[in-house]
Amino acid sequence: MRKIDKVLRWATACLFRWNWNPIKTCKLADGLFALRIGIVNMFVYTDGNNTIAIDASYKTPGLIDEFKKINIDPLSITHLFLTHSDIDHAGSYGIFKNAQVYLSKEEEQMINGLTARVPGIYSNPKILNTYNLLSDSDEIAAGNINVRAISTPGHTPGSMCYLINGSMLFTGDTLILRKEKIFPFYSCFNMNTEQQKLSIRKLAALENVSAIYTAHTGYSQDFKSAFEQ
Ligand SMILES: [Zn+2]
Repeated sequence: MRKIDKVLRWATACLFRWNWNPIKTCKLADGLFALRIGIVNMFVYTDGNNTIAIDASYKTPGLIDEFKKINIDPLSITHLFLTHSDIDHAGSYGIFKNAQVYLSKEEEQMINGLTARVPGIYSNPKILNTYNLLSDSDEIAAGNINVRAISTPGHTPGSMCYLINGSMLFTGDTLILRKEKIFPFYSCFNMNTEQQKLSIRKLAALENVSAIYTAHTGYSQDFKSAFEQ
C-alpha cells in the first residue's frame, strides 16, 4: 500500500469510524474498471472505441499507477464526468488532458467561490480546464456510449449521478451501500441530507438499472433489492 493510501486510511479510521469500503483497482465487468485511491473509487468505461471516466479521485501521482494496472492510458479518456467537485472526486482532473470535463450547472457555485464547502473555512478548488455544465436528464454521447445525467442534490448542491447505457448507475456520494442496501451518505459530509433523501427516492424510481456503483462503499449488481426498504 502506498504512503498516501496509508495516511488517508489512518486519518479516516481515526477521525471517523465509518465504513469506507472502496473496491480494489480491478475490472468489474466487460469494459468497466474501478480504480482505487485511498478511500475513494473512480470508474472507467470503454466500449473499445471510446473511453470515459466517472470522477477523478484525489490529486496524486499514484493514480497513474492504478491506470497501469488496468492497462488504460488516461490520455485515451475523452469524457470525464464529475459527480461533484470535492477533492476526492475532482482532484486529478488535470491528468485527463484529452478529456472534456462535465459537471452539473448547480455545482459551478462550488468551484467559482460563490458557495463554500464549509462556510467560512473551506471552498472546493477551481477547475482550470474548460468544462461543460449539465442539467438534469441531459444525455451525452461518447461515440456509442450513452451517458445520462441525473441531478441528485444533497451532498453538494450540484451532485449528479450518471447512468451509462441505461443500465449502470454511478452515484458518487449521493448514497452508501451497507450490506447491499442503500442509505444516505454520512450526514456530516452532506450540505443537505433531507434534499439528498429526495434525490435517493428519485433514483429508486429508475427502471432497467442493473448495477449501482458508489464512490466509497462498493457496488451492487442487484439494483432493485438494494433499494428495497
Ligand atoms: Zn467523496
